[in-house]
Amino acid sequence: MAIQSIRLFGDPVLRTPAAPVVDFDKELRKLVKDLTDTMMDAPGAGLAAPQIGVGLRVFTYYVDDQLGHLINPDLDLSPEIDEEGEEGCLSFPGLSFPTPRAVRAVAKGFTMHGEPVVLEGTDLMARCFQHETDHLDGILFIDRMDPKQRKLAMKAVREAEWSGLSAPVIKASPHPTGGKAL
Ligand SMILES: [Zn+2]
Repeated sequence: MAIQSIRLFGDPVLRTPAAPVVDFDKELRKLVKDLTDTMMDAPGAGLAAPQIGVGLRVFTYYVDDQLGHLINPDLDLSPEIDEEGEEGCLSFPGLSFPTPRAVRAVAKGFTMHGEPVVLEGTDLMARCFQHETDHLDGILFIDRMDPKQRKLAMKAVREAEWSGLSAPVIKASPHPTGGKAL
């Protein structure tokens, strides 16, 4: 196990677009393992490499008992939007908010061995793919909320016990109870 500390909102790495993976090597396989171990320990439904301070286009997911990872993802989204689904983020411990997302997503990318792969997700899986791919572009779920909801979310962030701790911090407890943390 190689559990890493999860970066919290306020850490500049979360606002920095990640670089495409070029070398499908041993280092990459270690990164996927670290992301998987850290996500399962949190626990969370998804984790992107920038959340553990690594600026590469890699994420892991654990949704509906399906565990996996994707490198260099490229998404195709359905026009149908779920406006009300609750969403959380391991970089915003304990908080979840309604966040609009496409209901279905097709995610194209690569395995850690460099093999092309196409993943299809609906509902929570689709939400996870969108949330994690956003992390790789420096986009956070608060950016996807309508302005009124974002205002409420930012108020909750300011009031959170971890607020202002932008340095790497060990995982917060208690674990999130509402929504799914990604
Ligand atoms: Zn997140």
